[in-house]
Order: sequence, then structure tokens, then C-alpha cells
Amino acid sequence: MNSEAAARTWLAPAKINLALHVTGRRADGYHLIESLAVFTRFGDRVEIERADSDLFSASGKYASAVPLDDSNLVVKAREALRREAGPQRTPPVAIRLEKNLPVASGVGGGSSDAAAVLRGLVDAWRLDIDEAELARIGLTLGADIPMCLAAKPLVARGIGDELSSVPDFPALGLVLVNPGTAVSTAEVFKALASRDNNGLPPLPSRIDFHSVRNWLEITRNDLEPAARAIQPAIGKTLSVLNKAGAGFARMSGSGATCFGLFETGNVAKRAALDIRSRHPDWFVAATRSMEADAHGQD
Ligand code: ATP
Repeated sequence: MNSEAAARTWLAPAKINLALHVTGRRADGYHLIESLAVFTRFGDRVEIERADSDLFSASGKYASAVPLDDSNLVVKAREALRREAGPQRTPPVAIRLEKNLPVASGVGGGSSDAAAVLRGLVDAWRLDIDEAELARIGLTLGADIPMCLAAKPLVARGIGDELSSVPDFPALGLVLVNPGTAVSTAEVFKALASRDNNGLPPLPSRIDFHSVRNWLEITRNDLEPAARAIQPAIGKTLSVLNKAGAGFARMSGSGATCFGLFETGNVAKRAALDIRSRHPDWFVAATRSMEADAHGQD
């Protein structure tokens, strides 16, 4: 095998909605949101190499929770790009997914996997596709895929696909905790008491850990009350994060994963050890969010 065909591994980071306001609903049923999102150094991994025939396999803690057939977003992303570029330019590939993120847990694992596959296949197939085109293809597969392609601090509006990056956003120490319960995004949206809420307040002019924490105090995750009613373990998860010393704790996306904010990575690691020792069955990960100039290739 020559070096051009060597396998490459791509990070599919967790997407954390630091704040998520639901601001309306479109006629087609899609909800309008305003969300400040960051992406973490912890995530799934996607290894891609040219092969004699298409292969898709999954390993890792949550591999058994994802489908291995054409319904997996990894396979959907491969086929969407192949349709776009044509069969001649898209020879068979082996894709190995290391599934480290809990599934249906509000951290966008499936969308992030699809984004990593799109990026990885543009590289493996040497396609001449620009960022806007890739985001357009991603959007046909899911509203969150364009933001997962960007994978940097951003504000998302519209159905989550209108993105403005937040260039000076600091790397934050985060602890992600999931009490081991999947929550259906559709069910949470259906249970919302109100869909016409105010948008996000303006971001602080000087962005650092303290100003971000103060800003978070005046924002919300509008999905949290509905998700907590469906899954009471979310409330317990938040209080466990607060007890472990988080400067701020909130649910991400439609849950049930919650994040705690910590001033440094070391404090986050200690808190994660503490939570893991008390709740050995839970998913607990200490990580840092990526800054604007970080990128997802190992
Ligand atoms: P979001 O925050 O975008 O709502 P989520 O973290 O709540 O995402 P995912 O983990 O992306 O949810 O899973 C949503 C559904 O997608 C699951 O029911 C799962 O069966 C399906 N799915 C398909 N492919 C994947 C994949 N590669 N990883 C995870 N889930 C996948």
C-alpha cells in the first residue's frame, strides 16, 4: 500500500449547546433556535482508508447502540457524497467508527460522525468540494451537520444551520455526564410548553471564563424543563455536577447529557474522578472545548 492510501483518523467531537433558546417553529414543523455551541476534544473517532469493497464497522463503548446498516449516519454521509461526486471518483472505502459518545444523548454524536465522514472522504477521495458545498450536502442529512462540520465555537440560528463563529471564545474545562438514559429529541420538542421564546442576549464584549459564566446565567436551555419531566435523572445529574464544584451546570441539546463548566482542565479532571467513583455506571468525561483555530484531524 502506498502512503497516499494510508488510513487517517478524524475526530467527531461532542457538540455542547452551552445555551439553547427555542424561538419559534416553521410551517414545516422544524423548530427555530438560537444556540451558543462548542465542540470538545473528546468524541467519536472515524478511521477511513481505501479498500477493495465498502466496509463499515463500529467499536467502542457505545458501538452496540448504533445501527450498522444503511440507516447509520456514517453510511448515509458516504452515500450522499458519492451521489454528489459520482461513482468514478468515489472508490470503495473502509470506515471504522469508534463510538465513544452515548447515543441519543444531546451531544450530536450521529451528526458529528457524519460531518467527520464527509470531511474524511473529501480527503480520501481527493474531491474538490468547498466548505459551503459540504455544508449544503450535510444539511440534507441533518440540521446539525453544518455546525458539526464547523466544529468551533459558534452561534447557530434558523433550524441550527445559520452559523456565526465566535472567534475569541476561550477553551473551557468541561465535564460531560450522562446518567445512562437515552432521550428522544422528537419527544422533548413535542412536550415543549412554549416555542416562542426570546433569542440569546448579546455575547459579552470581552469573552473569558467569568464573563461566559455570567452570560450563561442569563440564558437557558429551553429543552431542559421538558426533558427533565420526561427523564427525572437529568435533575439528579445536574445536582451531582454542582456538588462536584462546577461553576455552572446545564443540560446539552435535548439531553440527557449535562455539562459542568470548570475553570481549568485539572479541576474538571478531579471532579470527573469524584463523579465516576460515586456513579460507576454513568458516562463521565472530562474534556476541553476547542478554540476557533483547532481542527478535527488527529
Ligand atoms: P442531537 O443532539 O443532534 O439530537 P443526539 O446526541 O441526541 O443528537 P445521536 O447520538 O446523534 O443523538 O443519535 C440520534 C439517533 O440517530 C439514534 O437513535 C441513532 O440510532 C441514530 N444514529 C444513526 N447513526 C448514528 C451514529 N453514527 N451515531 C449515533 N446515532 C446514530
